Amino acid sequence: MAFGWAGSADISSAAKTFTPNMGGQFFAWLLLHGHLQCKTNLLQRRIVEDATCELCAQAEETAEHLLVHCPFAASFWQRLVIQMEPDVAVCNLLHLPKPENLPMAHFDTFSLLSCWHLWKRRNGIVFRQESESDRVL
Ligand SMILES: [Zn+2]
Repeated sequence: MAFGWAGSADISSAAKTFTPNMGGQFFAWLLLHGHLQCKTNLLQRRIVEDATCELCAQAEETAEHLLVHCPFAASFWQRLVIQMEPDVAVCNLLHLPKPENLPMAHFDTFSLLSCWHLWKRRNGIVFRQESESDRVL
């Protein structure tokens, strides 16, 4: 399956090396191209009638909210000591300053992998009524 990588070279290479399975690559493609099936995108397509975040009910569920600003996601990034700018966009998640406590050569890939797990946890909570505890991330 070809996805027609249209992003910059570093986004494409990070997404391609992100994970060997197609689920992870497809998630990366959806995220970086603004097609993640968050509620604001579903509202635009008239699939849902309300875009309120299912996890916190405090904001519209955009990709940025869900993966960065929602208290569910914010606590995850805080535990990793990764500082998020208030206006960070998901397409900039690959360009976060690498914290000193994470000496990984492929930090960009790590960021995408973290987002993928946040998305899977969200789906587990919303669709399978799993616990909201994010300790299993
Ligand atoms: Zn939220």
